[in-house]
Parts: sequence; structure tokens; C-alpha cells
Amino acid sequence: MSERRLLIMLPGPTNVPDRVTRAMVKPMIGHRGPEFHELHKRIIENLKYVFQTRNDVYVLTSSGTGGVMCAVGNLVAPGDKVIVPTYGVFSERMRDKVKRRGGKVIEIPVEWGRAPTAAQIEDALRKEKDVKVVAIVYNETSTGVTVRELPEISKVVKEYGALLIADAISILGGDDLPVDKWNVDVCITGSQKCLACPPGLAIVSVSEEAWEAVERNPCRPYYFDLMEIRRFYEEKVETPFTPAVPLFFALDEALQIIREEGLEKRFKRHATCAAAFYRAFEALGLSIYPKEEKNFSNTVLAVNLPEGVEDGALRGTMKERYGILIAGGMGKLKGYIFRIGCMGIISESETLTTISALENTLKDLNYPVKLGAGLEAAKEVFRS
Ligand code: PLP
Repeated sequence: MSERRLLIMLPGPTNVPDRVTRAMVKPMIGHRGPEFHELHKRIIENLKYVFQTRNDVYVLTSSGTGGVMCAVGNLVAPGDKVIVPTYGVFSERMRDKVKRRGGKVIEIPVEWGRAPTAAQIEDALRKEKDVKVVAIVYNETSTGVTVRELPEISKVVKEYGALLIADAISILGGDDLPVDKWNVDVCITGSQKCLACPPGLAIVSVSEEAWEAVERNPCRPYYFDLMEIRRFYEEKVETPFTPAVPLFFALDEALQIIREEGLEKRFKRHATCAAAFYRAFEALGLSIYPKEEKNFSNTVLAVNLPEGVEDGALRGTMKERYGILIAGGMGKLKGYIFRIGCMGIISESETLTTISALENTLKDLNYPVKLGAGLEAAKEVFRS
């Protein structure tokens, strides 16, 4: 296998700082001893900072999907009513997870490229009685849409006495999500996205209200039983089962990097790079997939494939010739859009490098672009 280091501009996994990679090769420790307790405690404290919460936070040894399954499995019992707006692949997966769990799904289908609104959620809450949970994907990775009305949605969810699950896997740590201020009952992220850590860990926060529902739920999952996870943390600062210790080392380092930078600066950095990308796309005559600018994501940028440019050729040239990985479309958008991850360590340097490669790739594929137009538009954003 080639040792060539690619610039990873995927919507996860993302580039991992060497400091974080090196942390993984520390000598192994036992997960039932004081070294692990100290590491685990520090991780949880730093995660509370990143989640902007005083709620309980737990690290699960699983990919992000495990975090969503943990949320659904602990909050939803068979027969419970759950509102799920669907507007892309990951929100459809959320719907399917609730269904498999035996929950009664009240689906709000939203045109892909748009975000669900507080009015739509309120309408569904008014029509249906006894909705237990509203489950939302805050940043729909498949369409590059961020649900900017999440605070308003949370307000109506609370007015109707329901619980809010937010899948924030592709956004937490890259854009604002104050879990306590916005009353998110269970918020989920994954290690491999905006935290700039390798894949393999999911993280969930659990509010007081969510705990009441968990405690009443007679059929919690075995591996992801939040009651057991809480008991092990509170009694021993441990996890019920063997954690992926090298990934805990990595997460610890990644979180220290986040604290050194500070959340405010980190969000601003992501927003500036995203703005530069959007300006560059516009200057290159490319159209953005999401329909409304207010919902453009700062962490996943979805762009319509221009006429005559084939998905495989675009991504293949970006990778083979310029050493940059970007993503294609998912589900029904496969072959129609490409996606760029603007996550983690993203800075002016990675942004300009990617835009330059994109311009050149389009030129290589005989698409009429004015070389330098995208770069100039992006640089203007950084200059200002
Ligand atoms: N939810 C969202 C919004 C995602 O972006 C992803 C992964 O891209 C997932 C869930 C699933 O995460 P994983 O592949 O880590 O299980």
C-alpha cells in the first residue's frame, strides 16, 4: 500500500494532527486501573466543555451509528411515538433505527436540500398526542444542510413535553451547539469528524429529563445500556466493557488541542473556511446543492456536479493527480453532487489547496473554468 499522505477533505474521517496520532502508540494500560481512571475523567471533563453542557457525557466504543442506536435504544420503547423529519440519508437512517426499535415513527418528509422548520415540528406535535421523542439530524451530511432552527425546534419540543435527540455527528466541535442552552436531551457525535480524531468512538450527552425516560424504559439495549454506563462511570470511572484504549488516548489529545484553541475561535475558523469555499464555488460557476443559504453547512459542503463532469473522474483526478480526497453523493444524490468536508484542522492552507486542485481538476476535465477565479474569491474572504 502506498505511504502517500493524502489531504483528507472528506466529511469524515478528517485529517488527524500528528500529536493525536502519536498519542495512540503510548504503552497500553489496563482499563480497570488508576491510569485509565485519570484519562477517562479528563476526557469527560473536556467533552463537557466541547458539548457546552453540565449534563452527563459518555464515550462509547463504536462508530457514530452506535451513539445514535444508544440514544434511540435507551429513550424509545416499542410503541413510543417519535417524530423524525427526513431530508437526507442520515435522517432516513434515524427513521429506520426508530422503526427497528419498534417505535411508532411520525415522519416529516422534507425536500432534500432543505431543512425542517420549527413550524413543521410544531404542527406534527399538535396533531399527534403523546409524542415522546423528536429525533433530528442537526447537520445532514448527505446534503450539506444544517438545521439552523434547532434552538426554535427545541423550544417547541419542550413546550409539548417531548425529548430531543440531536445527531450532531458531522458538526459538533465545528459549529456552535450549546447543548444546555438549546435543551438538547441526547446529543451524539463521533470521534472522526470535527474533533479531528481517528474513527471508532461515539460520544453521547444525557440530560436530567432524558434520564427519567431511560430509567422508566424496561427494555434498554445490553451493550449500550445507559444505566450501566452511568453506574460504571459514577462508581469506578470505568466503562462496562473493554474500551478502545488507544482511541481514548487519541481523543484525550484531540480534546486538549480544542481547549488550547478555544471553541469560539474554532467555530470562527470553520465558518471562515466554509465561506471561502462557498465564494470560490460561486466564482467557478458551480451551484451549491442546499436550497437556502441560511442552511448552508459550515462543515460539509455539497455542490452540484457541473454538466459534463463525471463524479468518478472528478474525485479520481483530485485524488490521483492532486492528492486530495473529496466525497461523492450518497443515496439518490450519487453521481449528482460532490461533497467536501470542512472539519477539524481545516485552515486557510487546506482550503486554498483544495480550491486550487478543484479548479485544475475541472480544467483537466475540459470544464470551462477561469483558473485562479476560485482562489481569488476565497482569498478575499481570508483577507477580510
Ligand atoms: N449521522 C451522521 C449525520 C453522519 O454524518 C454519520 C457519518 O457520516 C453517521 C450518522 C454515522 O456515523 P458512523 O459512520 O461513524 O457510524
